Amino acid sequence: MVHFVGAGPGATDLITVRGAKLLQQADTVIYAGSLVNPELLQLCRSECRVYDSARLTLEEVLQIMADAEKQGHLTVRLHTGDPSVYGAIREQMDALDQMGIAYSVTPGVSSFCGAAAAAKAEYTLPGVSQTVILTRMEGRTPVPERERLKELASHGASMAIFLSAGMLDAVQAELLKGAYTDTTPAAIVYKATWPDERVLRCTVGTLAETGRRHSIRKTALVLVGDFLSGGYERSRLYAPEFTTAFRKGTEQE
Ligand code: SAH
Repeated sequence: MVHFVGAGPGATDLITVRGAKLLQQADTVIYAGSLVNPELLQLCRSECRVYDSARLTLEEVLQIMADAEKQGHLTVRLHTGDPSVYGAIREQMDALDQMGIAYSVTPGVSSFCGAAAAAKAEYTLPGVSQTVILTRMEGRTPVPERERLKELASHGASMAIFLSAGMLDAVQAELLKGAYTDTTPAAIVYKATWPDERVLRCTVGTLAETGRRHSIRKTALVLVGDFLSGGYERSRLYAPEFTTAFRKGTEQE
């Protein structure tokens, strides 16, 4: 059986308990070496076969899975963060379906959660934004026209931009075509939860310049939105007057 496992954003203790157990049991591990923290592989047994998928094509990955399955191996396919976000797991799952190989998915802590933790921020502040947009700039992978950054930026919602740290000039220009202004708060979070994590606070107007000054080109998320600044309203859920399923408030219903 093949287990797709989210490795978490970087820190080795941010993999789930289930994910760690699967790594400990694995006979074969295929890990996304470009981003997964290699220290996680220390959980594997010494006889476990380990492959770095950064050097492999989809076909080669599938061949390793098929060979492992023939030997009755437990295979872990280790993806960075959560596998459902830019993980390219659908094409692997569809191929496994065709080959009749069973699989499961174990979620992980996505880097957009790791980045919020690093910045000590909350994406969904009452009176500021109740929406988080996870997206990317168009690169070699196309983005549908209606999802172009400038279109999404028209909402002024909280945003986490993946896979775009090498295109910060374009990111900045697109964001400014939407509801954000030069002074909208932004942050570049480099290697969230890794030992060399950096949180570079800036504004949309200084985004590209900040990236240049700190030589950020990859392994970073761009966070944008007023959630990174001061003002917000108190949550209704914890307001004394607010009645919930678990607590009677002081307000007449
Ligand atoms: N599945 C992953 C995303 C893979 S796409 C997840 O859930 O996080 C790879 C992109 O994720 C990188 O280009 C970068 O934008 C972001 N990323 C991954 N790990 C990161 C980290 N520790 N800190 C900041 N950004 C990270």
